[in-house]
Amino acid sequence: MNERQRRDKKGERDFHGSLLDCERSMVDHTLVLSSWMLPQRVVPWEEAITLWYLGKVDVLEEYDAFVASPSIVVAVPAVVRLRRHVAGFRRGVKFSRANVFSRDGYSCQYCGMKKSRAELSFDHVLPRTHGGRTGWENIVTACRPCNLKKRNRTPEQAGMRLLRAPARPTSLPIEPMSFGGREIPSEWRGYCLVSPSAA
Ligand SMILES: [Zn+2]
Repeated sequence: MNERQRRDKKGERDFHGSLLDCERSMVDHTLVLSSWMLPQRVVPWEEAITLWYLGKVDVLEEYDAFVASPSIVVAVPAVVRLRRHVAGFRRGVKFSRANVFSRDGYSCQYCGMKKSRAELSFDHVLPRTHGGRTGWENIVTACRPCNLKKRNRTPEQAGMRLLRAPARPTSLPIEPMSFGGREIPSEWRGYCLVSPSAA
């Protein structure tokens, strides 16, 4: 039996094991890196295999687990890297409430206080009534007291100062928080920053 066959046989067994472990870790997910090697997003492994099959990513790390279809056996990808010029990925990080909080480090962009997700809100820097848009360049994380204080005014009118100008991020920090406390697979280490408490 050669190395590959041995791994296939072992992997088949491990794969069932890792499915059972999914509740506690992210082994059912794949870390997607940009072509610049920055963490871009986390996707279910099925999606990662599809991206690989379509030639959109290169596999950098594999789990010790395999999936088989009638015609092909592949290792479950743990970390993949996007090839350049993949349509749909070039516009950068998707705009969403969670991603804005993540960009701002869960800190109010006026007073700098770090808060939990439930205590934070969206703030339109230029209020909507003044023509302010809902997007990366005009939305910041604000705590409720700061949001109440600012009301429907610009920071200048409210006498408040932004800690930094909001912009569209090219990547996001991979935070243990966004995985609901689930463990980061060892295969991801070296590709994303993980706080010591989550390691
Ligand atoms: Zn605040």
